Amino acid sequence: MLGKILKKEDCAACRFCCSFRRTSLWETPIFTKENIEAIKTNPSLDETVLNVIEKDGYCFAKYDLSGQYKTDDADEEVPCPYLGENGCILSDDEKPWDCKIWPLRVMNKDGEIVVALTPTCPSINRLEFAYVKDFVSVNLKKDITEYAAAHPFLIKEYHPDFPII
Ligand code: SF4
Ligand code: SF4
Repeated sequence: MLGKILKKEDCAACRFCCSFRRTSLWETPIFTKENIEAIKTNPSLDETVLNVIEKDGYCFAKYDLSGQYKTDDADEEVPCPYLGENGCILSDDEKPWDCKIWPLRVMNKDGEIVVALTPTCPSINRLEFAYVKDFVSVNLKKDITEYAAAHPFLIKEYHPDFPII
C-alpha cells in the first residue's frame, strides 16, 4: 500500500520485515480465512505451516517460528516460510493484510483503535514523519481502519515506540 513512497530497490536490499527476531514474533502476519483458502488451493505452497485459530466467531491463522532459532543471539532472525529467493512468493489473494499495510500497524491503545508506523522500517523512517502521516491520512487511513474494524483479530496491542498517524 505504501509502494508509492517506499523504494522497491530499498526493500530488495533489506527484507527486514519478512524475518523475525524472538522479540518480534508478535509481528508475524495473521492470515485471514480467505488467505488460508487461497493458499490451500495452490499446490506449490505449504499450508501445513499455518496454525488455524477459531476465536470469537473468526477463523484466521498464524505460523509459529519460535522453535526454529539455532542460537541464543537475540539478533538471530528466522525467515517467514513464504519468503523466497526473490521475495514473497504469495499472490495478492494469499498475502496477509498485515504484510500489505506494513510498515503500518493497526493497534489498540487503551481501547482506542489507532493506525501507527513501525519504528523499524529503515526506508520509511528516512522520510519526514509529517509527510508519511499526511500521505497515510489522505490515502489509506480510512480504508485501513474500516478493514480492521471488520476483522478485529488483526488489531494488535499498542507498542509505545510506534508513532501514531
Ligand atoms: S523493513 Fe521497510 S525497507 Fe525493509 S523490506 Fe520492509 S518495507 Fe522495505
Ligand atoms: S507472507 Fe510474504 S510479505 Fe509477509 S512476511 Fe511472509 S514473505 Fe514477507
